[in-house]
Order: sequence, then C-alpha cells, then structure tokens
Amino acid sequence: MDHCHTSDLISLEQALEKLLAQTVPLTNTETISLTESAGRITATDIISPINVPPFDNSAMDGYAIHVADLSDHQTLPVAGKALAGAPFQGEWPAGSCIRIMTGAPIPSGADAVVMQEQTEVTETGIRFTSPVTQGQNIRTVGEDITQDAVVLPKGIKLSTAQLPLIASLGIAKVNVVRKLKVAIFSTGDELQAIGEPLQAGQIYDTNRFAVRLMLEKLDCEVIDLGVIRDDPATLRQTFINADKQADLVISSGGVSVGEADYTKQILDEVGKISFWKLAIKPGKPFAFGKLENAWFCGLPGNPVSAVLTFYQLVQPLIARLSGFTTWQPPMRLTAKATTPLKKSAGRLDFQRGIAAINENGEFEVKTTGHQGSHIFSSYSAGNCFIVLERERGHVVVGETVHIEFFNHLLQNQ
Ligand code: AMP
Ligand code: MG
Repeated sequence: MDHCHTSDLISLEQALEKLLAQTVPLTNTETISLTESAGRITATDIISPINVPPFDNSAMDGYAIHVADLSDHQTLPVAGKALAGAPFQGEWPAGSCIRIMTGAPIPSGADAVVMQEQTEVTETGIRFTSPVTQGQNIRTVGEDITQDAVVLPKGIKLSTAQLPLIASLGIAKVNVVRKLKVAIFSTGDELQAIGEPLQAGQIYDTNRFAVRLMLEKLDCEVIDLGVIRDDPATLRQTFINADKQADLVISSGGVSVGEADYTKQILDEVGKISFWKLAIKPGKPFAFGKLENAWFCGLPGNPVSAVLTFYQLVQPLIARLSGFTTWQPPMRLTAKATTPLKKSAGRLDFQRGIAAINENGEFEVKTTGHQGSHIFSSYSAGNCFIVLERERGHVVVGETVHIEFFNHLLQNQ
C-alpha cells in the first residue's frame, strides 16, 4: 500500500474539514453537582450571582483610617477591631483608627488601610510613618467579578482553572453537555484477549485498550463490545447493536483492502460511510460516516496508526460532538533534528520523537527509532510527534522540523 499513487489521497486538513462539516454537537444537557463536573463541557454561560469580592475588604494587616484625619494628626488612637469574618461594629469616632486584618470588611467611611509595617505603636496611639493615598490596600466590591457578569462561556471543559472559580461564586450545580456515548470494538480473527495464551498466528488486541483509554481521558462514556471475528453476520449485528446504544461507534481493523476486511462491505449496507485514503503516515485507511443513528469512525488495524488517526481526527471530532467549542489542536513548535529522519515524499508524517531543550534554550528532537506502524513502543519511547510536511524527503541532522508534544491522551505529565 505504501507504493500506491499519492494523488488520490486526501490531506489531513481536508479529512478534518469534511468530518467537522458533517457533524453537529450533542444538544442534550444535564445539571450536575459542581463536585462531579470535572472534565465536563459547559452547556450554558456561567453567570455570577454575586460580586467578588462581595464587600470592600482589607488587602493587608494594619489600620483602617479616614485619610483626612492625618492632615491634623500623625497619631490616631485605636477605636476597635475588624477581623476576617468579624466586621467592626459600633461607633467610629473621628480622629481614630481601626485595627484591621486581611480580608476583614472595611469599616464604613474608611478610605485607606495602612499596612502595619508603615506604623509605630506609641503611647497615644498609632503613628503613621509613610505617606498615605486614598483607597490604598482596599480591595473593592466586585473588583474581580461583578454580579451578573459572564464568568465562563459555554463550550469550555471544566478543570482546576475553572471549578474553584465557580465554587467561589457559591454555585453548587452546573449545566453541562451530556457525556458522549461511544461504542468500541476491534475486528480480527487473529486477536486474542489479554490474559489468554497466544495460539499460532494470534496477537493481543492493542487497539481497543488504547481507544478505551483515550476515550476515558476525553470523558466519554465507553460501551466496550469486545473483539468481533471476521464474520459478516456477526459484524453486521455488532454495527446494528452499537448504533442503537451510542452517539459514536469506533471500530479498528478491517478498513484496508485485505481479504478478510468485511467491514467495508457491511458498512455499505448499514450506513453511509466514506472510505478515505489519508495522506498521512502512519494511518492511511480511515472510514467515516453515519450509521442509522450514530456517527462512525473506522480506524486502521495497525496500532500506531489506530492511535494516530484517533489523536488527529477522532479527538477533534469528539470535541465537536460534545460541544467543546474552545478545544485547540496540539501546538506545533519548531525543533532542530539531532538524528537523520527517513521520509519519502507524498504523505504527512507523524514520526515519534524525543524532544528536549538544549543549553541554548532551543528545542531539539531525535527519532525514537523504527517507525513502523506496528511498533507501539515508539509511543512509550517518545514524547512528541515529529510532523514532516507532505512533500518533504529525508531530513538531515541540523534541519528544522515541526514537533507536537504528546498531550494527555498519550501521556500524563
Ligand atoms: P487490518 O486493518 O484489519 O487489515 O489490520 C492491519 C494490521 O493491524 C494487521 O497486522 C492486524 O493484525 C493488526 N491489528 C488489527 N487490529 C488490531 C488490534 N486490535 N490490535 C493489534 N493489532 C491489530
Ligand atoms: Mg483485520
């Protein structure tokens, strides 16, 4: 297959465009507890019910004053105390100050807080040793967030950068997009389940495990339908069954032109599916389309290709389907190649590399070695994709290349 003409291949960008143009986000939403919402996508804007801070308060431990009092006196007696959670109450006589702690409500009428390092305790009261400006050290009501403001937009993924912010507004429940239900299965008579001994000609099923892990990282609900034999009746039944339960069905294997590849024939019967030859390496064959109910992605059988096509195509598709409108593709950076990279022109290569920063603060990248689409260890050895343009040939040491660091789908950092 590597020797076929490259003119009938479609580019990754074209494939992505087609895939996104055909699909629409889920519209089902649910309201869930904030404590259970990590990883979920906001279905509506999040509006602040309160001002933050909710009242003027002190940014320092020190003394609250009326600035005008200092024109007559440099020393003010202490008339009371304001603590965080225990506001000053009572009369505040003119010409005095209030001891105040960080976070305590500003006593009514105070227009500055002087930090205690800029004061001295004397027999007649507190002496102010530095010039004072109006409003200093006062955190004003609504300074961070005003009531009714949009704090977070619809279409973002909730995580540590957002959830504490929502909690700080006292919001206990959030409206999120329902989890995407994804049915997965592997196809192939040669596939053996892990934990079982290998018989002649068998290999273990890598892809279902990989796909499942990536779907879990993308916060999908996974419906695992196991390994399906290369038998047309079983395959047909599996597609029909998967389609009934899921929003998206993902299979692996059987989308190339091998003899036992029944998937194509069956999919022509049960859905409207396109079979693409992608101009990327690894991962040329890829099927995409619609079953009766669910969307369908057919990943290539070779494990490196299955993961790569999932990463480059299914990941943005899932973002799209689950309403994650602010999703960003992995960032591409430039790096200097420190090993030669074998490449033939015609396809966009996603080789696995090991990138690091050299003593000049620049990225350098070397190959993980053998780049075959069955060499899964290239993922565990690497930390990035080396992305080599379609028309590019071999890369020699010192050339600049693009890299994409693996994101959380491939490694935890
Ligand atoms: P296929 O696309 O079904 O022709 O498979 C292409 C290659 O990938 C063959 O060498 C298969 O044995 C291998 N393969 C297919 N599915 C899997 C899987 N789930 N895990 C590991 N290897 C697989
Ligand atoms: Mg197969």
